[in-house]
Amino acid sequence: MKHVLVLGAGQLARMMALAGAPLNIKISAFDVNSEDIVHPLTLEVLGNGLQQAIDLADVITAEFEHIPLAVLDICEKSGKFLPSTQAIKAGGDRRIEKALLDQAGVKNAKYAIIRSRQDFDTAISHVGLPMVLKSALGGYDGKGQWRLKSLDNVESIWAEMLACIEQSENQAIVAEEFVPFQREVSLIGARNQQGDIAIYPLAENVHTDGVLTLSTAIDETELQQQAAKMFTAVAESLDYVGVLALEFFDVNGALLVNEIAPRVHNSGHWTQQGADTCQFENHLRAVCNMPLGSTQLTRTTSMVNILGEDCVPEAVHQLPGCHVHWYGKEKRAGRKMGHINVSASDNTELKATLIKLADVLDPAAFPALKPAAHAL
Ligand code: ATP
Ligand code: MG
Repeated sequence: MKHVLVLGAGQLARMMALAGAPLNIKISAFDVNSEDIVHPLTLEVLGNGLQQAIDLADVITAEFEHIPLAVLDICEKSGKFLPSTQAIKAGGDRRIEKALLDQAGVKNAKYAIIRSRQDFDTAISHVGLPMVLKSALGGYDGKGQWRLKSLDNVESIWAEMLACIEQSENQAIVAEEFVPFQREVSLIGARNQQGDIAIYPLAENVHTDGVLTLSTAIDETELQQQAAKMFTAVAESLDYVGVLALEFFDVNGALLVNEIAPRVHNSGHWTQQGADTCQFENHLRAVCNMPLGSTQLTRTTSMVNILGEDCVPEAVHQLPGCHVHWYGKEKRAGRKMGHINVSASDNTELKATLIKLADVLDPAAFPALKPAAHAL
């Protein structure tokens, strides 16, 4: 029996626990808000706090990148933390992330860092318009972002950015060129302690109002090779251990990295039904010093996020190849509550099932599904 402590007690820790049970890997989770150690499925409070959980754990890992630095520090000192605090910091601070991508020689959008009004002017001339402005710390699901399309809006956006910068001493804004991409794809892969790498097929992602709504595994050899090369460069430059996700913009068949996530990722949930070994199991295998499992696609699969809903019609369970995964969370508007994996024997069948799924779900809660399914 191995004991893994996960920093963060959300759905990713929950799904790690579900994948770890058959391997006799026991998960406990650190809830960053309450600072309690909790059971990852029931959220029942366990044990006597973080230090004891660190002492009891064989391995410590994280399910998200916005971990307080003091917590990261004590975990690092225990010598049990994987992937590495450097990787978590790169995922949680867009300045570190951009520097890492440049250092690994991986293409990403042109950028500048803004802390003052003068920096903003410099960024406008260096990066050009239109631009996307993102808070360096704390951004997720498209939050903490602005779009600057014309110089007329500089003053109003600056007022909002300044308020954001002044919220914390270490905050800044990263200005990025607006990338005219055709689509967004992501790559999930794992690297273990021996340096072995196993990479899943790319997923094509649809975002709605900045939030991922649909992810579909795709089979495109040339794009896969480009993405795999960049994955290997980033993973090796960090001496990474665990599952790592790279998000890309596809611009006429050339990939640019948008961002990295040093953890299991929403766009990899399809692997629970569509791959030989799911991303959660491979993350645990990597951090527990085991051989990696096959990442091969077993069935063509899409993942549909359930946002702000805590039930779906019975008819969903009647559709062939549909599996619902709930996260056991309280309902809140827009909140990631669960997902539905849809598998099929080929793309035609997948598309037909997704269209049927869109027909039985409430279109107000899943506005992007039908158009996205038709576009597949
Ligand atoms: P998430 O948590 O969902 O990954 P995030 O808050 O970390 O989101 P990003 O992934 O950087 O933010 O941006 C959210 C979305 O905004 C992207 O998926 C993309 O659709 C769009 N976007 C971000 N940067 C750019 C850019 N430079 N050019 C064009 N669109 C962009
Ligand atoms: Mg993103």
